[in-house]
Amino acid sequence: MTTLSAPLLPGSTLGVLGGGQLGRMFVHAAQAMGYFTAVLDADPTSPAGLVSHHHVQTGYEDAAGLAELARLADAVTTEFENVPATALAALGALRPVSPAAGAVAVAQDRAQEKAHFVRCGVACAPYAVIETAEQLAAVPADLLPGILKTARMGYDGKGQVRVKTAAELAAAWESVGRVACVLEKMLPLALECSVIVARGADGACVHLPVQRNLHRDGILAVTEVHAANLPDTVARQAIAGAISIATGLAYVGVLCVEFFVLQDGSLVVNEIAPRPHNSGHYSQNACDVSQFELQVRTMAGLPLTQPRQHSPAFMLNLLGDLWFAADGSQQTPPWAEVLALPGTHLHLYGKRDAKRGRKMGHLNITADSADAARATALKAAALLG
Ligand code: ADP
Ligand code: MG
Repeated sequence: MTTLSAPLLPGSTLGVLGGGQLGRMFVHAAQAMGYFTAVLDADPTSPAGLVSHHHVQTGYEDAAGLAELARLADAVTTEFENVPATALAALGALRPVSPAAGAVAVAQDRAQEKAHFVRCGVACAPYAVIETAEQLAAVPADLLPGILKTARMGYDGKGQVRVKTAAELAAAWESVGRVACVLEKMLPLALECSVIVARGADGACVHLPVQRNLHRDGILAVTEVHAANLPDTVARQAIAGAISIATGLAYVGVLCVEFFVLQDGSLVVNEIAPRPHNSGHYSQNACDVSQFELQVRTMAGLPLTQPRQHSPAFMLNLLGDLWFAADGSQQTPPWAEVLALPGTHLHLYGKRDAKRGRKMGHLNITADSADAARATALKAAALLG
């Protein structure tokens, strides 16, 4: 594995595997600091490829494409957790890669991820791994009702089935094609939150404030971040848990850790994402260092300073549904009206086609108080319909 011997200063080239919106916002942050950028993504119109100095248009497993990315870039990161760990390992032999293949491999697999939480002593939902019919038959009854989740490739609620009985569990495992799964006990959630941590190669950790998240149909809809968000003890516990999870992985880069707060006030970890996360987007406008700048700093070996949130914030996800009128015809959302509201910051990802459920952009809303930010968020949501 290649490591940095000295910080990569502006003027160097930073590479990213994946050309989605997270890659695009990484590219913007890197370029703002004077770096050149290289994106690897097969799609010629990928959001990040469109704005990068270099765009290698191949798949993640294309040896020539990976070699070209390594030739162009002085260090490489990823914006997509399902990039094959073999691609990261191949790049890691040529260039410093962060996060490392081993850490990404843990985040790619819910069974490994949960085993890591247990190893770190951070409480997670009671669960069982189901890879064989014997393991299915041996599932303890007290894990039901539960949620069956495919171990790999799940996101935005996909690859999950809620089950109440052993018979439903067996049918659900059939329905996902008997692939490796975890069954998690269904927990009584009071709320969901997440925290972004950044860890440097020297082990130094900084974090953003803990975000409170609201999901709709399995997709993040709203994030709010302000002092009255969460009890202080819960926020402190989440930050400590996230840091021990990152440290236990010897992680270098930006890591998002999602948590549940249960109705009895206790905190359990849900999952990790080895990259900036949708729930950290508010940092672009509400903090003095964004999660994307943290990604640049960690991969370049620059110093990490503790980010400071200067404004209470709300983040509204903008899904493709907003581009369709009630009668199904295409429309442009009312940006001028939305942007007339004070403290609204529009981020669009440059995706050509709007589709229902597709993440097209987000709106960050800042104000001098949480109440004012919430009032603006409600007005913006009403305008967007
Ligand atoms: P994804 O990878 O799709 O984000 P998650 O594991 O985060 O998958 O699950 C999606 C959502 O389902 C969570 O944000 C939460 O609302 C709900 N959920 C997941 N696991 C549980 C659980 N054990 N108990 C209750 N709700 C859960
Ligand atoms: Mg999740």
